[in-house]
This record gives sequence, structure tokens and C-alpha cells, in this order.
Amino acid sequence: MEKTLTIIKPDATERDLLGHILNRFEKAGFKIVEMKMMNLSKDEAGRFYEVHKERPFYGELTDYMSSGPIVPIVLEKDNAIADLRLLIGATDPAEAASGTLRDEVGMDKGRNSVHASDSLESAAIEIPFFFG
Ligand code: UDP
Ligand code: MG
Repeated sequence: MEKTLTIIKPDATERDLLGHILNRFEKAGFKIVEMKMMNLSKDEAGRFYEVHKERPFYGELTDYMSSGPIVPIVLEKDNAIADLRLLIGATDPAEAASGTLRDEVGMDKGRNSVHASDSLESAAIEIPFFFG
């Protein structure tokens, strides 16, 4: 069984979408194996998104990710990493395929409601970041 990290982002916790999103994960066959609600400091958000530190959106991204409660979750399933990326859809909700989570509840390219690890290597870093 493969594990991946997802984060329900501040725009989604703010709009009371936790139950809905957790239900979408479970209905899609993911097992919730670890979960917590927390707040990140801007510095912690910066460390989580370190790979993007040279990008023009890094400051905005780390402000946003430290702006309210987030819910990091470890999900387990066969092929969890690729399957979760499919379930959440493209980064920009305007480009996310119909029926994906970001299409359904995402607001814009920054406030796109959910994070998901993009590879085995990322998952191996991101899971212990929150659940060490
Ligand atoms: N992001 C943004 N502007 C952009 C690209 C990305 O604000 O032009 C934010 C967005 O919240 C995204 C996160 O930075 O989810 C990480 O970007 P990445 O390209 O890794 O997208 P993801 O893997 O989340 O689809
Ligand atoms: Mg990414």
C-alpha cells in the first residue's frame, strides 16, 4: 500500500468543507491513516514549500498557507500518489478536469483547496514533515 500526503488548505477549512473533502477521499478508496488540524507559521510554510522558493508566487503562497487552519492527512491506497493527483485535478481550478476536487471547490490558482504529494520522493519528505 502506498502513502501520500494531502493538506486541506485554509480556503477550504474556512468554508467548512472538511467533511465534504474527507468524504471524497473515502469514497475514492483512500484510507485516512493520520490526520490533524494545525496552523503553520509563515516560516514553516516556507520550509514546506522550499522547492518553490525561487518562484514569484512563493511569498503569496506562504502568506496564504499560514493564514488559517490546515489539515494535513496521510492517505493510503494502491497507487495513492498518482490517484490522489487525479482526484484533485490541475493546480488552477479553472483548468482542473470536471469532477475533480479543485474543479468542484477550488477558488483560484493559489486558493485551490487541497495539496497532494506529486511523487514518491515528495511524499517521503512531506509525510514526516507533519507526522515525524
Ligand atoms: N501556486 C500559486 N500560483 C501559481 C502556482 C502555484 O499560488 O502560479 C500555489 C498553489 O497553491 C499551488 C502551490 O502554489 O497548489 C504549489 O504549486 P505547484 O506548482 O506545486 O502546484 P500543485 O502541486 O499544488 O498542483
Ligand atoms: Mg506541487
